[in-house]
Amino acid sequence: MMRKLIAGNWKMNGTAADLGEARDIADGARDAGSDVTVMLCPPATLIDRMAGMAAGTPLLIGGQDCHASQTGAHTGDISARMLADAGASAVILGHSERRADHGESNGAVRAKAEAAVRAGLTAIICVGETEAQRDAGEALALVEAQLDGSVPQLDPSRLVIAYEPVWAIGTGKTPTADDIAAMHHHIRGWLTGRLSAGGSEIAILYGGSMKPGNAAEILSLADVDGGLIGGASLKAADFLAIVAAAKMK
Ligand code: PEP
Repeated sequence: MMRKLIAGNWKMNGTAADLGEARDIADGARDAGSDVTVMLCPPATLIDRMAGMAAGTPLLIGGQDCHASQTGAHTGDISARMLADAGASAVILGHSERRADHGESNGAVRAKAEAAVRAGLTAIICVGETEAQRDAGEALALVEAQLDGSVPQLDPSRLVIAYEPVWAIGTGKTPTADDIAAMHHHIRGWLTGRLSAGGSEIAILYGGSMKPGNAAEILSLADVDGGLIGGASLKAADFLAIVAAAKMK
């Protein structure tokens, strides 16, 4: 069975005052056991400090975006190489908030993923439909198109897919267990079709209002290999409760 990955996305939240929560998560990660990988993706300003704090614990640190180039005249941007240098081992790419706020296309996400893998990072590539697309019966096709455009043909061991229905992020709403299972099954089929054997080893995370109260059910579904957690990753108690739920699966 695949090791579960529980990754927290702090988004644009967190200053030095919040490092105590991260310290508690790093300490708690020691109890996660060998079946669960625990990761926090703080804003870029905290990566270096959080990585220093996590040293000697099982907690991994990730970024939330990177540029497609490793250096150059791109004011305000951060490259994958810089994230790795600061202590990150992964980066979230193509989150729906970046696709919406910064107009990131599938092609842009793919270029960033290639840069991330080449810099030695794991690329966590986000896909997911809007509520209107789900209501129109287009969810599976839309996610497939995002996979077609966003996932590079590179080392599968450096790729993770996060299925995050846009309408479930930060809303308290989640798809039914059947809908999550159907989407993850569809994504698994796409991965094995495109990347053959390697596709069966790529973790597929669910993200969107995962909380301590629903984590156990979601994480028990076939092809749900972990979670990408926003709001509930900001408090150590909530996040570690989700890690504990993953441990039982
Ligand atoms: C996210 O933004 O990746 C996310 C899953 O957020 P939340 O858990 O708050 O819905």
